[in-house]
Amino acid sequence: MSSLLIVSRAKAVRVFAAALAGLAVLVARPAASAINVFACEPEWGSLVEEIAGTRAKVFVASTGLQDPHRVQARPSLIAAARGADLLACSGAELEVGWLPPVIQQSGNDRIGVGKPGHLEFANHVNVIERPAVLDRSLGDLHPVGNPHIVYDPRNVLLAAEELEKRLETIDGAGAGEYKARLASFRQRWEAATKKWEQEAAPLKGVPVIEHHKEVSYLFHWLGMPVTGSLEPKPGVEPTSGHLKELLDQQASNPAKLGVIRTPTRLSGKSRRKRFRGNERKSGFSSSLAISSYGKRPSRSIGTI
Ligand SMILES: [Zn+2]
Repeated sequence: MSSLLIVSRAKAVRVFAAALAGLAVLVARPAASAINVFACEPEWGSLVEEIAGTRAKVFVASTGLQDPHRVQARPSLIAAARGADLLACSGAELEVGWLPPVIQQSGNDRIGVGKPGHLEFANHVNVIERPAVLDRSLGDLHPVGNPHIVYDPRNVLLAAEELEKRLETIDGAGAGEYKARLASFRQRWEAATKKWEQEAAPLKGVPVIEHHKEVSYLFHWLGMPVTGSLEPKPGVEPTSGHLKELLDQQASNPAKLGVIRTPTRLSGKSRRKRFRGNERKSGFSSSLAISSYGKRPSRSIGTI
């Protein structure tokens, strides 16, 4: 593995760590809020705080160390959904395994599908990796395309714009504040995106392999070709045959590549053990990327 690659991978991790950390702006909690928001993942919780400020009280349903595909529909989530005016989630079926029962059991009509209070950001960005044919037979976790949209900062801005519209619809009295906060966010976010693009320019064209197709939007944004993933299909464990194919591909086309994985892929002892076993078998080394963040984003970044 070339040193250039190692530098490049570390830089890639830094770039999107910066992109996500950019969302982690701490906002003072309001004494009394105009609206309650149920955010499925922490990044959307932060975006809501950024655009709504003290007018929103935000409940975040998962942490950055959880697999967003697999969140337990706990009673606390149902209780939070019951009082929510707005749901802010990734969509594209990322939360299909747990969100529908939460909404249903909450009995809250305001956040039902099709209502202004039901916001799935994937409906407002260009979803990549849409399969030509819908096929769930292999346990595909991405049946309608890649739902991990937050890795492209351009998607975050599109999400912020739609979020602002919904906030105005639900809480018209706050329209002026929402508009002003969006304008401020847009200015800062566009400047940051430009800076990240400049920093990441040397990564253009560097091929990579992912574990789960979770960081694809980052590579799409930066022009880095994804030449494979350890999972033969999203959500399906790597097989020996598939790993061999990847190794053969590497042997015939020696490229600067590495495996990018996220902490959620290693949640649980058995999954961690399996991953490390597959890694040893494959001969690939991996870099850790963050898929979201918790209270201390910097602690979520590292290399194994
Ligand atoms: Zn996924």
